[in-house]
Formats: sequence, C-alpha cells, structure tokens
Amino acid sequence: MVYAIHGCGVCSRCKVDKPTYCLNRVRKAIGFTEDGGFSDFVTVADVRMLMRVPETVAMDTACLLPCSGLTAYNAVMSVLNTVEGFVKDHGVPEDCAVLLVGAGGLGLWAVQIARAMLPDGVRVVCADKDVNIIV
Ligand SMILES: [Zn+2]
Repeated sequence: MVYAIHGCGVCSRCKVDKPTYCLNRVRKAIGFTEDGGFSDFVTVADVRMLMRVPETVAMDTACLLPCSGLTAYNAVMSVLNTVEGFVKDHGVPEDCAVLLVGAGGLGLWAVQIARAMLPDGVRVVCADKDVNIIV
C-alpha cells in the first residue's frame, strides 16, 4: 500500500513521518499533484511511503486505507485522549457517546474505527444532514 501524501523529505517533520506538516510546505499527493492514484504501478520517492498489507486484509479494502481510512483514523485518534479521560473520571455512563457528523465514506470508516478504538461502553453515534439513518 502506498501512503499518498509526502512532503520535502528533509525537514524535521518529514523526517519523523509527519509529511502533512512539512516545514517547507511541500505538499505532494499521488493522484493529485503526482502521477498515480488508480494506476497499477507507481513510482514512489521514498520507501517510507510503502506499507505492508497484512494477508488478512483484502486488497479492495486496503486500497481505501491510505486516504479515507487514515483520515478517519486521525479524526478518531484526535478525541481518544478526551474520551479516555472522561471514562477514567466518570466511568462509562449510559449517556456517554461520541457523535460523528457525516455518514459518507469517511464517516462510516470513522464509525468502525471508533468502535474498535474507543473504550468499551462508549456509544458511537453517526448523523448526517442528508441521510435519515443513525448508525
Ligand atoms: Zn518537509
């Protein structure tokens, strides 16, 4: 699997695998600013852009992870400490819930990731202004 976003590769943030925060403001994205995307083959600038896909993960699932999967994962991880702190201080009351806004591709990824990563008992609620469903 190819991580699609990369920066300059030499600044302190790129060197710790934080290319989206590149200090030189280099924003390269395969399929957007660089050739690739839905290609069968693509040239990558750095081996750190490659990730091994476990055999248990289907390729049609793995191909979605570098962009939408990581975006949703990052969103869930951004609230993890807050939710864990709340649960530590208050336990898991039955009204403890995390609301995810948007039930499109990213939102549905986030629902699955939140269920896997957030403390047991925390409800994961997903709402969308255009869809009358609650996941
Ligand atoms: Zn950089």
